Amino acid sequence: MSTLIIDEFAIMSEPDSLFANEAEPRARHTTAYTLFADVVFDRPLDHPFTYAVPDALAAAIGVGKRVEAPLGSRVSPGFCVRVSTTPPSFDARKLKPIASVLDDDALVDDHLMTLTRWMADFYLCGWGQVLHAVVPAGVRENAGTRQAVLVEPVEKEQLPDPLPTVTPQQKQVLECLKKAARPLELGQLARLARCGTGVVNGLVKKGLLRKFTERVESAAGQAREEASAESSPDLVLNADQARVWEQVQAGLAEGTYHPFLLHGVTGSGKTEIYLKAIESVVKQGQEAIVLVPEISLTPQTIHRFTGRCGNVAVLHSHLTDAERGGYWRRVATGHVQVVVGARSAVFAPTRKLGLIVIDEEHENSFKQESTPRYHARDVAVMRARLENIPIIMGSATPSLESWLNASKGTYTLLNLPSRIADRPMPPVHLIDMRHEPKARGKHFAIGPTLESEMRRTLKNKGQIILLLNRRGFNTHIHCPACGHVAQCANCDLALTFHRVRSALVCHYCGWETPPFAQCPACNQAAIRYQGLGTEKLQSEVEEKFPGHVCQRMDSDTMSKPGSHRRVLDAFREGNIQILLGTQMIAKGLDFPNVTLVGVVNADVGLHLPDFRSAERTFQLLAQVAGRAGRSARGGHVMIQTFTPEHPCITLAANHAYTQFATMELGHRKEHRYPPFERMVRVIVRSESEADANQFAEQLSSAFKEAIAQLGNPSKQAVPSTHVAASLEHPAHNDRAPVRLLGPAECPVFRLKNFYRFHFQLQSESSGMLHDVLRTVLAVAKPPSNIEFQVDVDPYNMM
Ligand code: ADP
Ligand code: ZN
Repeated sequence: MSTLIIDEFAIMSEPDSLFANEAEPRARHTTAYTLFADVVFDRPLDHPFTYAVPDALAAAIGVGKRVEAPLGSRVSPGFCVRVSTTPPSFDARKLKPIASVLDDDALVDDHLMTLTRWMADFYLCGWGQVLHAVVPAGVRENAGTRQAVLVEPVEKEQLPDPLPTVTPQQKQVLECLKKAARPLELGQLARLARCGTGVVNGLVKKGLLRKFTERVESAAGQAREEASAESSPDLVLNADQARVWEQVQAGLAEGTYHPFLLHGVTGSGKTEIYLKAIESVVKQGQEAIVLVPEISLTPQTIHRFTGRCGNVAVLHSHLTDAERGGYWRRVATGHVQVVVGARSAVFAPTRKLGLIVIDEEHENSFKQESTPRYHARDVAVMRARLENIPIIMGSATPSLESWLNASKGTYTLLNLPSRIADRPMPPVHLIDMRHEPKARGKHFAIGPTLESEMRRTLKNKGQIILLLNRRGFNTHIHCPACGHVAQCANCDLALTFHRVRSALVCHYCGWETPPFAQCPACNQAAIRYQGLGTEKLQSEVEEKFPGHVCQRMDSDTMSKPGSHRRVLDAFREGNIQILLGTQMIAKGLDFPNVTLVGVVNADVGLHLPDFRSAERTFQLLAQVAGRAGRSARGGHVMIQTFTPEHPCITLAANHAYTQFATMELGHRKEHRYPPFERMVRVIVRSESEADANQFAEQLSSAFKEAIAQLGNPSKQAVPSTHVAASLEHPAHNDRAPVRLLGPAECPVFRLKNFYRFHFQLQSESSGMLHDVLRTVLAVAKPPSNIEFQVDVDPYNMM
């Protein structure tokens, strides 16, 4: 471990300017100090640094507050994580003092301290990095109320004439502001545009933007407070719900850690169980956190909670920093009983947490794809464990991780096997596209069978949902003469033609280029635009069904705040007959008049090089099928596929989750994939392919050595929430306890101009896996042109 080296970094570093001119020597003998503080910074460091607390700051210092302290040659902000009167054991004569304490009150309480500490250990990143990510910027920037400086564009009539020229950075600022479509705080705008506030101020000087101040805290916090709307009725539970509720109620009455997995088919009344549980907790004077995927944060969902559960705070991604900060403080001061939000709501600073609910617990969006790379479900389970409270995870298609936990009894399985009011699950018809007659005209995404069913549905005044999980117009642009395929300049990825934007776009990095009619490689004019995306599907639908309103819903059409809500409202009111889109339309929507759900191509995503591709395909099909037949009108599902015999598709068509889970777990076990083994993915990337390769080889040797030296699993194994962790025994003799796969090129080798190599480390024992990684990470010091990422329990395998 590199503990000592890191401590020396803090202690022995060169004098910093802040203290250099003080009359008093900047470091005194330890005996002069009586108080010491451990501080963590927003850096990938595995250990807190110890500082002396000057007498003047002794009253102000405290765990969970931010301080400024010298780090290297600068003074940096960090979180105080420990205060002690015992001097550190090492030679502390050069111990540096804390420079200042930034907060009057602790921003993070003991529970969150412990939770974030666990996250740092488990996800192998800096504790300071976790705290930095967990505490919203609006809280960090100012712990009290404040005047905010806001920026808005100057009206057209008042723009200077002639228009001044702008720098590329300033252009970026203008675009960010335009996208937001409302005034933004100066600092927030600069952060969004990845520039300094000077760039924004430059635009103010040029007369293109206007600055004004506003007291944001109380206004922002309250403006979006979702006051108890008219209360929706407390329904009479059906027999299945009553049976489930009895068990949940017992868990709540006990009030101790108890994880429940609620497996209920779509429309089985899971939400009613959540609501009753929350009501009961709130009645006891406690608080609840409800995690839902961001795309499920629809007005409809929000309304169901606000109608029943006291003061509800809804945390979504369109909040300003100030609003986020406002919520944080309102939750921390006990003004909110229920927090509903996406991933980061798991960190809500509740004071008397009594329950956590996670709806759609299988959703991949609970995994954060930047440091700290945490999974909100797993963090939630750990939080419930630390705070000793019940947690309910619900889904129609539980993740295999949770399913295995339930089948081992680690989680209590609750089951809602049928829909409310004995409505049948919608019948699903598979259309074998290999035998489907060719459609008329130039379009052929919708085959004759699906088309005639759509006509019948529209004639009967039903509504239709069409799923195609690929956006853009054409997804494959190639030259039949020379074989050239249009590719991103920065990534090893094919470009997608977007007709509305008139551009070829990379879906990973956003790089764009104008469409071309001639092959850039051989100059032939035979370029083919093929492959189907939602944009093209929309034009096909509009051509085939004139006189009906068709709306597309994907991240291209839904980028503006509020657009989601507008479309769903119009669909509910019947002003839209056909809603088509990507997975965005597959989840959670409850529209009684939807009598037909069509899947245009079920095979998209089935053959990706990712061990979860079957699970994802099954989930998507099962979820979208669940949008049909949610009222007495009934409904059905038609799935177009080229592989109707694929078990993933046949089982989804039969709504056979349990069978699918059993089959897929069999595969996972055979191939030793999660959830049977724990996986960590390490990515090495550099703009220099050779350097990345070389460093990957070095890491490989270091991993091999660490694995060879493995003894027994670490005594201080980081507790974890997955099944694999319960197998903390040395693995069978015929296998290495930790498997190393790689280095190999990532499936997408070049991404955003970085060449990428990856490793997969796997083990049944999460303790041993962490031992190996910690040993290697402590000594792995990449050259400056190389970065590496460690992803524990990875979800992105590309
Ligand atoms: P899920 O979350 O499992 O998809 P919901 O909780 O959204 O299911 O329930 C589906 C529909 O059934 C909702 O409109 C809900 O109001 C209604 N519902 C739920 N429980 C009952 C009940 N016991 N009696 C009547 N209607 C119910
Ligand atoms: Zn790209």
